[in-house]
Parts: sequence; structure tokens; C-alpha cells
Amino acid sequence: MIHCPRCQSAETRIEQEGREGEQIIWSIYHCAACSFSWRDSEPEESISYARRDPYFRVDTSAPDQYRIVLPPE
Ligand SMILES: [Zn+2]
Repeated sequence: MIHCPRCQSAETRIEQEGREGEQIIWSIYHCAACSFSWRDSEPEESISYARRDPYFRVDTSAPDQYRIVLPPE
């Protein structure tokens, strides 16, 4: 199970896989909890919850703490 590097949710799924012949060389994951997407071949500073800048973490249990950038229609 792959956990989201932004919110630590386990609600993740594989969106796309890059292949070279029969071999999978990268995968793109998507988090259903916070809508983050990432490729597993990105640097640890981007895809590791522990290594990412804590400023960019998302707490999905408290959405009201985030301001709305694009108002929902
Ligand atoms: Zn997430």
C-alpha cells in the first residue's frame, strides 16, 4: 500500500504506468483524499512525507483551515 506523500492517506491508486518493453519503469499515483498526484521516480524531497517540507502537508480532517483559491461552482 502506497501512502500519500502530502496527507498520508492510504486512499491511493495507480493512474498511469510507464513501460519499457514488459518492464514498468515508473508509476503515477493519485490520492483520492487530497487529490495529489505524483510519479514514483520523483526526488525523495517531493514524494516522501518525511522529507517533504511540512508546510506543504495537508490535513484532510480539517479542510476549513485552508483558504479557497478557486471557489467551487
Ligand atoms: Zn493525499
